[in-house]
Amino acid sequence: MRGVDRLSRPRPGPLRTPLTGGPNPLTAMIRPILKYGDDQLHSAAGAVDDVTPAVAALVDDMVETMYAAPGIGLAAPQVGVPLRLFVVDLSVGRDAAGLIVAINPEFVEREGVQLEDEGCLSVPGFNATVVRPARVVLKALDRHGVEFRQEGTGLLARAFQHEMDHLDGTLFVDRLRGIKRDLIVRRIRKLTRAGKW
Ligand SMILES: [Zn+2]
Repeated sequence: MRGVDRLSRPRPGPLRTPLTGGPNPLTAMIRPILKYGDDQLHSAAGAVDDVTPAVAALVDDMVETMYAAPGIGLAAPQVGVPLRLFVVDLSVGRDAAGLIVAINPEFVEREGVQLEDEGCLSVPGFNATVVRPARVVLKALDRHGVEFRQEGTGLLARAFQHEMDHLDGTLFVDRLRGIKRDLIVRRIRKLTRAGKW
């Protein structure tokens, strides 16, 4: 199964240490991930004014939360923080160079189309084929407040667009149409009524 945000298998590879460049496991905290239906997931987030120590701590927590899930991406609104910030790591912590922290991200290029199965940590148990750009170039600030540009194709382009959507209050379910969308929404409502969501 291909997932964005979400992987179907447990995190492989060795445990990370503070030397690998990831979050410090001694201080980073796993935060609860909000689920589809929570208002905080369905509203647009605001820009990060300054990369303060509090923002850096949030980034560490988000990385830890993403790895623990496990997932390949997590946006701040998913942990209830209405800021334009997301983390992506296609290696899920196996490769220290794989971690991308994007603060106040925007697309400077977007082209092509890809159609793949996609999931989301905030919509556990559901997957659907979503139309995404085939290639994007992202401009953002890193965890030190330094601007960078990063090209993404394939799964990385998909992950960037998926996480960017979260910053605008859009979930992959909202990108679906007709029966496919209705089916997922109805099932989530049913689970919510049953107290299982
Ligand atoms: Zn998601």
